[in-house]
Amino acid sequence: MITIAIDGHSSCGKSTMAKNLARELGYVYIDTGAMYRSVTYYAIQNGIIDAEGNIDTARLQQEMDNINISFKFNPQIGRPDTYLNGERVEDKIRTLEVSNHVSPIATLGFVREAMVAQQREMGKAKGVILDGRDIGTVVFPDAELKIFVTASAEIRAQRRYDELTAKGEECNYDDILKNVQERDYIDSHREISPLKQAEDAIVLDNSNMTIDEQQEWLLKLTKEVVSASE
Ligand code: C5P
Repeated sequence: MITIAIDGHSSCGKSTMAKNLARELGYVYIDTGAMYRSVTYYAIQNGIIDAEGNIDTARLQQEMDNINISFKFNPQIGRPDTYLNGERVEDKIRTLEVSNHVSPIATLGFVREAMVAQQREMGKAKGVILDGRDIGTVVFPDAELKIFVTASAEIRAQRRYDELTAKGEECNYDDILKNVQERDYIDSHREISPLKQAEDAIVLDNSNMTIDEQQEWLLKLTKEVVSASE
């Protein structure tokens, strides 16, 4: 059993890859983006972020102990659902409103500290796949397999647009593209744990790959790494 870290840019299919790979291997999947999204959703719901997007950081810091995030496997969709203080928030954390506020929240040191501590605890048993921005660099720098996923911003925005439209959410391609580009910028330029490729990560540019092609590539690679570690 190994630890697998999948990092990369926003909306490039990391969670689909991680979810499918976890099913194939019988591993546990931890969606770390869902954790930052849950903190953001809590902040919006509790008036900690105002209409202009300003964050009351002192209040958020005080309330961190009241923010409990957990995952429960949902056999119907074959992946874990995210729960915030016992409420299923899986769909509520995926809206464009949450996407628009999550990157500034994820720059805050006290938020990252709390999330990283929980991720290390959840992943300590190995046999886990985590996806995020800082898994291979900060959370599990000793992970046996690290993948860094990327694709062009336009392709990522189109995929996100298709996904939200399929869920019936009203959305606009240009707004989504802007969000993808802004998140890339904030995530890569923040002071604490910026998004960057770990030196020993394997890069996957999936701009021109189908989900099946990428899954086949990933499974083959993983099997090689797992057997080399035995
Ligand atoms: O992966 P997802 O797009 O759901 O992540 C939402 C946001 O959470 C990212 O844009 C990033 O700002 C933040 N994030 C992070 N570190 C992680 C995972 C996500 O900063 N490990």
